[in-house]
Amino acid sequence: MSRMFVPGPVDVADEVLQAQTAPMLPHRSKEFEAIYRRAAEKAQQVFYTRYRVFLTASSGTGLQEAAIRNFVQRRVLSVVNGAFADRWYEVAVSNGKEAEKLAFDWDTPASPERIADAVRKGGFEALTVVHNETSTGMQNPVKEIAEAVRAVSPDTLILVDAVSSLGGAKIEMDAWGLDMVLTSSQKCLALPPGLGLGAVSDRAMEKAKTVENRGWYFDLVRMEKHRLKDSSPATPAMSLIFALDFQLDRILAEGLDNRFARHSAMAKRVQEWAESHDLSMYAPPGYRSQTVTTIKNERGINVSDLNAFLKQREMRIAGGYGPIKETTFRIAHMGETQMSDIEKLLAAMEEYLKQ
Ligand code: PLP
Repeated sequence: MSRMFVPGPVDVADEVLQAQTAPMLPHRSKEFEAIYRRAAEKAQQVFYTRYRVFLTASSGTGLQEAAIRNFVQRRVLSVVNGAFADRWYEVAVSNGKEAEKLAFDWDTPASPERIADAVRKGGFEALTVVHNETSTGMQNPVKEIAEAVRAVSPDTLILVDAVSSLGGAKIEMDAWGLDMVLTSSQKCLALPPGLGLGAVSDRAMEKAKTVENRGWYFDLVRMEKHRLKDSSPATPAMSLIFALDFQLDRILAEGLDNRFARHSAMAKRVQEWAESHDLSMYAPPGYRSQTVTTIKNERGINVSDLNAFLKQREMRIAGGYGPIKETTFRIAHMGETQMSDIEKLLAAMEEYLKQ
């Protein structure tokens, strides 16, 4: 049963938690290397990529930093229409890059045309964009953005944060021509936090070789040398990799398309429930996330009071985030959450609203 209708960390299935308790092995042993390789290969299916997937002992932000340090020598375009896109921009600035921010209102999807215009003028080595903004519940049209950018600047690398959508929404890295797609373990993959997964194209790896000051811990060129031997430069988060290996079997057994359909059906149900209770969504139709719904708090609901009520029933939802903290609240429907959990949550919310 799901209890955590918050956009990560999410509930983890008991058997997945259990998989973490496997005994340690030397990380440079054949036994562990086989698990490492197998997990990374299964992950490629979730990213829809023939390229490599790096597993890092970090949360997703670590890979935002890796992307900047490895693929940008000087100039990057940061597409920003939410809190996590803004964080990625700050990561670029704090690493000394010339980052240009292309900002959209938070309730407006990133426009492929405007991004292409900016790229055409710019000489950008890369652009960063968030697929699923966890703050606003917005899904940006990444496929169309990639297409538009390729048409005007084929060499600009397209770096995508899919922290709160990979494994819950279909992101076809290779077919869409993306150069890096990164995610965290604690969202739609429904694992405990602490593991980053980043898929990287060949041309991005070539670019990385030319970039100076990539650092050490997140130097993907160094990581690639080890990865080719089913290993990593530093000690990997072994327990999480045991769990990943196990969880990817469960995810692939559900079937990726079934999994995406389950997420999308839950999103639709939550949106319809909100509308029928005089509440509207923060994101416009056609761009709403299928993993987290951000609802405008038009009824002045006291969210901490509501959560206290829900906690008595062993459930909780999330408040707003950043500048829209007080004016929105969020219901996540990702990972292990099933429609029956959503029905239980909505029934409890209904009971609360009637009070
Ligand atoms: N990007 C998005 C879209 C997120 O939702 C989050 C976290 O919620 C992050 C990045 C940061 O990820 P992490 O907390 O795993 O570092």
